Amino acid sequence: MITTLLIPLQIIAIIALADFVSGIIHWAEDAYGTEETPVFGRLLIRPNIVHHHYPRFFTRFTWFQSSWDLLILGVAVLAGAWAFDVLTWQVWLFVTVSVNANEVHKWSHRTRAENGALISKLQDWGILQTPRHHALHHTDPKNTYYCPITNWVNPLLEKIRFWDGLEHIIQRLTGLRHRADTSVRGQGPGPAWLSEYRPASKGSTPAAPASRTCCGHCARCRHTHANAA
Ligand SMILES: [Zn+2]
Ligand SMILES: [Zn+2]
Repeated sequence: MITTLLIPLQIIAIIALADFVSGIIHWAEDAYGTEETPVFGRLLIRPNIVHHHYPRFFTRFTWFQSSWDLLILGVAVLAGAWAFDVLTWQVWLFVTVSVNANEVHKWSHRTRAENGALISKLQDWGILQTPRHHALHHTDPKNTYYCPITNWVNPLLEKIRFWDGLEHIIQRLTGLRHRADTSVRGQGPGPAWLSEYRPASKGSTPAAPASRTCCGHCARCRHTHANAA
């Protein structure tokens, strides 16, 4: 009986853990990854830089194009769990949610029309992260709200100033500091190659570099998204 009652709690905890781990990966890429980072620089950090400058660019990607890296990690976790004979439903749930972290992230940059009724409703009900919540990550100085799946892990981490504390410890231990983000006002300009990703501006309307406090729904934000697409 108690075990049955614990199942919903376990599901919530596993989703929170997947959101937290996704946030850690996102934070590591944003804070310390550079284009020069061996192997990962071009594969993972460059798309992140593009995303901060042009948040809507990746909404055109297929599931595989935006999730292949998480799929590799997920398969590795499943293989490890299988090798150690701990391949439980909890591990499957953790991997399934984690592998789809970037897809959920993508939905928070798409319009309601692009997402369709089901995803929009899941966002409205707070089951999936909402565009308004994720917009806090894209608000200068873009160094917070890294977790992309739910609306409830980020506020907890903010309350204890988790990211600030973690970066402070890393700086004390290694001297490493959060890198400059060229999409943040005053920290640019961005790298020259970004011009490949610049959306074509319509008429004389300048391209919008980022949706700063964008909710993705109001008339102003839809205009911003249209230009950033
Ligand atoms: Zn980011
Ligand atoms: Zn984003």
